[in-house]
Amino acid sequence: MSKTAIITGGGSGLGQSTAVRLAQEGINIAVVDISEKGGNETVEMVKKLGPDAIFIKADVSKADDVKNYVDQTVEHFGSIDYFFNNAGISGSGKFFLDTDISEIESIVGINLLGALYGMRYVAEVMLKNGGGSIVNTASSAGVIGQDSVVTYSATKHGIVGMTKSMVAEYAKDGLRVNSIAPGPTETPMVEAFYRDNPEMKENATSGIPQKRLGTPEEVAELVTFLLTSKANYINGEVIRIDGGFTNTK
Ligand code: NAD
Repeated sequence: MSKTAIITGGGSGLGQSTAVRLAQEGINIAVVDISEKGGNETVEMVKKLGPDAIFIKADVSKADDVKNYVDQTVEHFGSIDYFFNNAGISGSGKFFLDTDISEIESIVGINLLGALYGMRYVAEVMLKNGGGSIVNTASSAGVIGQDSVVTYSATKHGIVGMTKSMVAEYAKDGLRVNSIAPGPTETPMVEAFYRDNPEMKENATSGIPQKRLGTPEEVAELVTFLLTSKANYINGEVIRIDGGFTNTK
C-alpha cells in the first residue's frame, strides 16, 4: 500500500522540493501551508508524478489548524507514515535589541510552537498505528550561534532539543525523529532575506568552505533518506547540510 507524508511549508522551498522528491518514490502527500497558491502548485506537481496529493490550508502557529491538518490527512489517506515538520520564517535579520516583541512572538509561534504542535498530533496518530518517521527542520543557526538571528536561533536550537527528547520517550514504540540543519539554501525565504540584507549574502557565501549556497534538491534528497526505511537505525540525529559551514566555525 502507498505511504503518506505530511509536509508543512509544502508550498515553497524545501517543502516543495521534498514533496516532489517523495512523490518520485510513490509517496502520497498532504501539503500544508498558509499560502493557497504555493500549496496548490505543489499538489499539481505531485499529481503529475502519479501519487495522490491534497492541499490543507493551515497556520501552523495555531493548534486548532494543526489538529485539523492531521485529522484531514487521516480522513483522506487513512494513515500518516512520514512527517516533514518544516514550516518556518526567518525574521528581519535585525540585531536582537532592534527587534520588537511581535517579531519574537511570531518567530517562536511559527518555528517552535508550530513544530511542537505538529509533533504532538502527528506522533499520536503514528504511534497508534505502530510508528512512523519524522524530520524536523532546524538550521545551521540551531547548532551554532550567529548574529542577526537570535530569536530564530533559539527556535532552531529548540527543534534540536525536541528531536532528541522525543526519541528518549518514543523510539521504543517505533518512532524515528531526526532533524536537518541546512546552511543557507537557495529558496524564496533566503532570497527575500538577502534582498533585505545584501551584505549578508556576500558574507555567507565566503564563509562556506564549498563557496556556494545549498540547493533545495540537495536538502530534499537528505530528507527523503531520513524519512524512509533507508535510515531505519538513525534516530535523534541532527544532520548538517551546509557545505562544511558549521564544522569550520
Ligand atoms: P520558504 O519561505 O521558501 O518556504 C516556507 C513555507 O512555509 C512557505 O510556503 C510559507 O508560506 C510557509 N509558511 C510560513 N509561515 C507559515 C505558517 N504560519 N503556517 C503554515 N505555513 C507557513 O522557506 P524555506 O527556505 O523553504 O524554509 C523552510 C524551512 O527551512 C524553515 O523552517 C526554515 O527556517 C528552514 N531553513 C531554511 C534555510 C534556507 O537557507 N532556505 C536554512 C536553514 C533552515
